[in-house]
Amino acid sequence: MAYDPSNIFARILRGEIPCRKVFENAHALAFRDVNPQSPVHILVIPKGEYVSLDDFSATASPDEIVDLIRAVGEVARAQGVAASGYRILANSGADSRQEVPHLHIHIFGGKKLGRMLPKD
Ligand code: 5GP
Repeated sequence: MAYDPSNIFARILRGEIPCRKVFENAHALAFRDVNPQSPVHILVIPKGEYVSLDDFSATASPDEIVDLIRAVGEVARAQGVAASGYRILANSGADSRQEVPHLHIHIFGGKKLGRMLPKD
């Protein structure tokens, strides 16, 4: 799938629409999900143009990969969920119901998160 630069997270990265930023490094940005599913619900995205973990894992540079994963850990600690526990999730493609075609890692925490996957 070709990258669509009009997607909502590309627009956030360009500063065209606002976000509630919680963390940033050279290659990654983290901000609050607009429709939180848990008390802590943060999205961590690469600044580069990647549709999903599929193309990111294949073509991102080592620095980009390190910064994305470091950002997840930094955010979890800063949000106070590293000790209590949290879940990361990255939807990729149609079967996962990925909505926004720019790689994003969800961080959920701040409550008991229940089953890993719903039964249906
Ligand atoms: P997906 O289903 O693609 O894994 O998740 C997309 C997420 O992006 C959803 O949790 C949704 O609430 C969030 N989202 C969609 N549009 C915006 C937006 O404009 N700002 C923010 N902060 N989150 C958004």
